[in-house]
Formats: sequence, C-alpha cells, structure tokens
Amino acid sequence: MNYKTDISEDKLLCHLCGHLHNLTIEECEQCGEKLYQRYPNSLALTWGYVLAATLFLIPANILPMMVVTAMGTDDASTIMQGVIYFFAHEDYGLGAVIFIASVVVPVFKLAVLYYLLLIVHFKQYNKALRGVKLFHIIHLIGKWSMLDIFVVALMVSMVQFQGLATIHTGGAAIAFCLAVIFTIIATQKFDPRLMFDKEIIIKEENNESRS
Ligand SMILES: [Zn+2]
Repeated sequence: MNYKTDISEDKLLCHLCGHLHNLTIEECEQCGEKLYQRYPNSLALTWGYVLAATLFLIPANILPMMVVTAMGTDDASTIMQGVIYFFAHEDYGLGAVIFIASVVVPVFKLAVLYYLLLIVHFKQYNKALRGVKLFHIIHLIGKWSMLDIFVVALMVSMVQFQGLATIHTGGAAIAFCLAVIFTIIATQKFDPRLMFDKEIIIKEENNESRS
C-alpha cells in the first residue's frame, strides 16, 4: 500500500494540529509548535523506554506490593495476591478495578507499543491506519495512567481500614511506578507518522540535518 506522506510531497506536517507547511518553516504557523519532520531518534527512544517498562513490570508483579505486619509476622502480597484477596472477600468491584488498572491496562499499553514498533520495522503499511487508532487509544489512556499508582495507595489504605497492624508498600510499588512512567514516555517518543513512511533511514537523516 502506498500512502502520500508529508515527506513524499516535500511538505512538513505539524504533529500537533496537522497543518501542512513548506520544508523551510521551523515553527507551525497554526499552533506555534516546533516542527519536526519526524521526532528525533523516535524509534531508538521508544524501544528503549518500552523495554525498560517491560523489565520493570517483572519485579512489579513478583515483588510484594505491600507488606502487612501483624503480631510480629510479616505478610507480603503481590499485585495478583491482592486481586485474589479482594475477590475471595467478595469485593468484586475493587478486585476488578485493581486487576484492570494494574495488570490489564499496563500490559495492553506495552503490547500496543510493541505492535506499533513492529509495524514500522517490518513496513506493514496496510496495518498503519489500525496502528494510528490504537496509538490514539493508548495516548488517551496515558492521561489516566496515574490511576494505576492511585490504585496502589488505595490497596494500602483498604487493608489499613480493615484494622491490620502495620502496613508499608513493598518493592513492587516503586517498580510499578517506574513501569508506568516509562510507558508514558515511550508513548510520547513514538512518532505515529513513521508507520506510513517508506524509507525510515532517509527520514532520520533529514531530521538530523534539520536540527
Ligand atoms: Zn501545528
């Protein structure tokens, strides 16, 4: 499939408002945004942050999210044990919220980012339009990403509410926050216009000569 892109038409597309410009223009005439033909080093940076986020998701799920100390004994629980705990106590709503916010959403966002990166690498132009739709979805979810971290705080306060002795967050909380933050940065670094481009290498060179 062949798409007309700003590059193939010798134009410059504003990534923010979609206004088309001549190549010599450096700032968008419509919204004032600094124009990049493609974000500098978009692929390398996106890969880096996506891999880092994936790596941190592992300790986030293996390490304890919270440690409850009652009567001298430590009781540590991971995210999934927390979810199971709430389901076992028939707190289905809370269990579902924690499961969606701390497992489904982060994994979905990373899966989409991998998919988009692979579309670019394997030049799957026929999937580019679907890719843009998915990109908009994770961009939208990104605005709610702090919900994931909020859920951690919620879990801690819920258990505290139930009258247990001492409670503190485990290593998983930090790993989880880092995974969420790296995913947000990766989404910002990815340039969806790359999915429509024929020649990745030429574009990156253009970028460097422009900056
Ligand atoms: Zn603009």
